[in-house]
Amino acid sequence: TLPQTAPPRSTATHCPYCALQCGMRLDGAGPLTVTPRDDVPANRGGLCQKGWTAAELLTVPDRITTPLMRARRGAPLEPCTWDEALDRIAAGARRLRAAHGPDAVAVFGGGGLTNEKAYQLGKFARIALRTSQIDYNGRFCMSSAAAASNRAFGMDRGLPGPITDLGRADAILLVGGNVAETMPPFVRHLTDMRERGGALVVVDPRRTATARQADLHLQPAPGTDLALANGLLHLAVMEGLLDEDHIAERTTGFAAVRTAVNAYWPDRVERITGVPVPLMREAVRLLARGERSYILTARGAEQHARGVDTVTAFINLALALGLPGREGSGYGCLTGQGNGQGGREHGQKADQLPGYRSIADPAARAHVAGVWGVDPDDLPGPGRSAYELLMALGTAEGPKALLLFGSNPVVSAPRALAVTERLDSLDLLVVADFVLSETAARADVVLPTAQWAEESGTMTNLEGRVLRRRRALPPPPGVRTDLEILAALADRLDAPGKWSTEPAEVFDELRAASAGGLADYSGITYERVENEGGVFWPCPGEDHPGTPRPFLDRFATPDGRARFVPVEHHGPAEPTDADYPVTLTTGRVLAQYQSGAQTRRVAALTEAAPEPFVEIHPDLAERLGIAHGDDVRVTSRRGAATARARLTTAIRHDTVFMPFHWAGEGRANLLTNPALDPTSRMPEFKVCAVRLEPLGVN
Ligand code: SF4
Repeated sequence: TLPQTAPPRSTATHCPYCALQCGMRLDGAGPLTVTPRDDVPANRGGLCQKGWTAAELLTVPDRITTPLMRARRGAPLEPCTWDEALDRIAAGARRLRAAHGPDAVAVFGGGGLTNEKAYQLGKFARIALRTSQIDYNGRFCMSSAAAASNRAFGMDRGLPGPITDLGRADAILLVGGNVAETMPPFVRHLTDMRERGGALVVVDPRRTATARQADLHLQPAPGTDLALANGLLHLAVMEGLLDEDHIAERTTGFAAVRTAVNAYWPDRVERITGVPVPLMREAVRLLARGERSYILTARGAEQHARGVDTVTAFINLALALGLPGREGSGYGCLTGQGNGQGGREHGQKADQLPGYRSIADPAARAHVAGVWGVDPDDLPGPGRSAYELLMALGTAEGPKALLLFGSNPVVSAPRALAVTERLDSLDLLVVADFVLSETAARADVVLPTAQWAEESGTMTNLEGRVLRRRRALPPPPGVRTDLEILAALADRLDAPGKWSTEPAEVFDELRAASAGGLADYSGITYERVENEGGVFWPCPGEDHPGTPRPFLDRFATPDGRARFVPVEHHGPAEPTDADYPVTLTTGRVLAQYQSGAQTRRVAALTEAAPEPFVEIHPDLAERLGIAHGDDVRVTSRRGAATARARLTTAIRHDTVFMPFHWAGEGRANLLTNPALDPTSRMPEFKVCAVRLEPLGVN
């Protein structure tokens, strides 16, 4: 166990995991203790098991505190000095760029990085490496909701208002989100609403812990959410539930949507989705019965080859009922990763510059280049999206080196075996992490980094509220922060511009770079975040109050109106057939987080959720000769995984569920289908076709 230095005082900060960014205090002279904060609206004194045990991450026994390097592929990773590691990376980058051009070196970021790190990583790629090849794991998380929101509202900002607004709603339709497990303190806002008489409607193929608390549960077949949304809108038209004034005054394009949903008559939608017509009718009536209701989507609606259109179908429904653009109602996306919101605003996305600006926009390029002190013509253009980037690695046309921060794609990427092979084919793989994750273990150079409570910065939570993450203790000797690593590499690469290692200075530069963009942080300062308990973007000046509810007067489109977009159901990219007759859907469980690189190292969490499993309906299990507790081989067109059978009536007869937090043979992403959404480039994590075979008890 590493020694910890006692913090000089109690430190108010936020949880290292999900986008709720629950407030907590860290105290103690030895191992730190965690206490929930009740001054943070998102969690109001609550934490989930992951938050309560978060301090354990700081003392994990396999923490790496010295850089590691291997002499050649196949040789073991050996400790080395920071100079040796950084020199090797810089020399490798120079050599590969000289031989193949600047796109020979790629960068991969993460939705858990602070705003400062996400910003600096994008800048590092564009002006230190001059590569277009940068993207991040948020592409696998909420990119479909982001693209749909941008298309409909001209802006993508998580929830449409403060999270406490939810508690005063008349109804909430929650699509594809199991918040009772993924972010339990969020449930308090749903409970507030229900205690005031509001209704919770959950759409999920599984009867999850969240669905069990709902007033109504719709259980569609995976991959049919879009048809369900169009069907609900069809019913709303039939029952005269539309808000005609809102449609006329605040939106454009409804006529085409009205025509499109004509074809989604209730009986047809019941055949496609499996949801009985009376339940659909009840859902839309609940949603339309009051003035203030929400439609919220999460990964279940978004991680599809038609994820943007699926979210758009639910936004169409929300607009037709007059929900967005009013205080206390609207459409919102429940972003997943800790900085899932901020992580997509500051330039680590393949097609973006800071301020949520398009990298293809000449004015945006000129502004950001001015802040960086470079010629706009020297900035690269858009690069490949996350999965496409990973699959291009080591190919004739693709990058030959990858620098990876805050991600573990060996476990979290779809079609994980093929992605792993691509990583192994690189000339140079560099991973910055605090432990030897499954991806770091395959690297040529591993850089040991500081963790959440060992450095400061800002995070933007699922409300769009910018929060301070504070340093509670120094990192262990030998470890560096990501900002220090990027500054040292920028120096070795003779990069132009300033490369501060101080988060506050980087944030000030981020403010300037974001000024005038959609995600305008120019008026947000560390002091304001401190004094005001967080500031909502956009905030275009220090005298601006921030924007808790951005769409009350107008949407962020050129004409100020929200856009309806007609969308059609196509079904999953890989339907079931005789060879692969069962649908697999994937997701998360309470005691683990994302690829598990962090949570699998926390004893209490591993005890609570020790191993991969596959949820199977007892009827399906009986047909296949599978008993509860059996090992089961699950095979798709991309590979096979082995997991323990868990029989439950909470899942549909035709569907099985696997969480994706584990490595090795139980990796759910060995199976998943990388079919990409044409707009967001989101892979279809939520549906693929598989077959199951019992292996008996081990
Ligand atoms: Fe942390 Fe999310 Fe749990 Fe809150 S809900 S304690 S932010 S993991």
